[in-house]
Amino acid sequence: MVTKLEWDVIKKRGCAVCGKSDASVGGLEKAHLKAKSKNGTQIIPMCPTHHKKFDKGLLSESELKKIGIDPVNYKKYLPKKGAGAPKPKTAYDEYEKAQKDTAKKMKKANDETKKLFGRKLGLI
Ligand SMILES: [Zn+2]
Repeated sequence: MVTKLEWDVIKKRGCAVCGKSDASVGGLEKAHLKAKSKNGTQIIPMCPTHHKKFDKGLLSESELKKIGIDPVNYKKYLPKKGAGAPKPKTAYDEYEKAQKDTAKKMKKANDETKKLFGRKLGLI
């Protein structure tokens, strides 16, 4: 762990990936360069967006290079599956899920309409 003082200094660098400042992202997060579950201790500042992407293994090759990780070794840095308690869902997660569900439903309805419409046209 870092002390508050250390963290104040570290976070002045901004998000390690995009460089956004603490204030502009509503608070930078402490990202473990190596997951805590794998005894990682090095802390780097990341904005909430990149922290989430990092932990999910979604950072791109160029983004990984910015934080000094060889893409080949990326997996080694990720948290172990099932490590720690599942994170509580945020309102944004719910919103995202609802968006996806709606998109799925709309696509299905669209496909069905196409099928029906195609059939109808064939009959005429
Ligand atoms: Zn960022």
